[in-house]
Amino acid sequence: MTGLCDSFQRPINYLRISVTDRCNLRCIYCMPAEGVYHISHKDILTYEEIYTVVQAAAELGINKVRLTGGEPLVRLGLPKLLSLIGQIDTIDDISMTTNGILLGSYVAELKGAGLRRVNVSLDTLEPDRFKKITRSSYELNDVINGIESAKSAGLNPVKINVVVMPGINDDEVLNFAAKTVDEGWHVRFIECMPAAGVSSDAWQFVSVDEIKKQLEQLGELEPCLPRVGNGPARYFRFPNSRGSIGFISPISEHFCFHCNRLRLTADGKLRPCLLSSEEIDLRQPLRCGMPSVELKRLIETAANKKPLRHQLAEGHFPQGRPMTQVGG
Ligand code: SAM
Repeated sequence: MTGLCDSFQRPINYLRISVTDRCNLRCIYCMPAEGVYHISHKDILTYEEIYTVVQAAAELGINKVRLTGGEPLVRLGLPKLLSLIGQIDTIDDISMTTNGILLGSYVAELKGAGLRRVNVSLDTLEPDRFKKITRSSYELNDVINGIESAKSAGLNPVKINVVVMPGINDDEVLNFAAKTVDEGWHVRFIECMPAAGVSSDAWQFVSVDEIKKQLEQLGELEPCLPRVGNGPARYFRFPNSRGSIGFISPISEHFCFHCNRLRLTADGKLRPCLLSSEEIDLRQPLRCGMPSVELKRLIETAANKKPLRHQLAEGHFPQGRPMTQVGG
């Protein structure tokens, strides 16, 4: 393995793949109220095309893959993609980020096809609020069942991603934290980022420091190591708790200097950074039969185009594609 690096010598070993831009939810912080335009089916990469990209990326040193979206589980036949990626010996971690609604129905098949673990996005423990935040008629219980099924299937640790928003769910921080003690949940609190298509005037976030301040009411947190993964979260737990609390602070204390990832959009663009609109097209070259050596060159080019850090502090907000296409 050669080891892929960007122009700042950051090792790049992680590929996040948006398998679809479709989602069964319309979360207020992720999508505009009116919804988003959908990429035409013919423009979405096939599973074989995604496999070809992962294979080339793996030869360059990518060894971790995460499936995301949109909602990955609304794309039919996802186990087929998992099985394909599972054939690549040097990929040693395949995970998925999901809203959990369909997880209970598919979990056994996904595990059987090689999925190692899941992160489930869940921003509230209150049934009515769940419908408001997700702008959907699905039930909170659908997600809770998905989480329980994933745990029973052994997709551990199931990490729960909570985007904390002022005046919307920041009064639930302690309830989520209690789940780490009472039920061994692994909860990660995430600062809300501005997203393309979601009004930046209305954008506000609760900082990790503010979240930590709230948590002081429950006792003293002790640092702990993540059970799996080496992503941007910093982990803590309350003494004697089976679960953990992670903090992800893309705004108040960005972790760009440790960024190790590239993103593949549902329509086959390689995206060097979530928060910048630079992209490199792989779909057309793939469909023109580009040889693997050229594909690898494009992947290296994308790595080299990674900016040193995002520019939110300078007022440069993401433009263009919604998070559902880029893959959050
Ligand atoms: N549908 C899947 C889900 O809900 O997990 C995968 C796609 S979603 C875009 C991936 C992750 O991005 C979720 O954990 C979501 O909370 C996060 N996300 C979306 N918009 C965000 C924002 N504005 N700020 C922070 N995280 C965001």
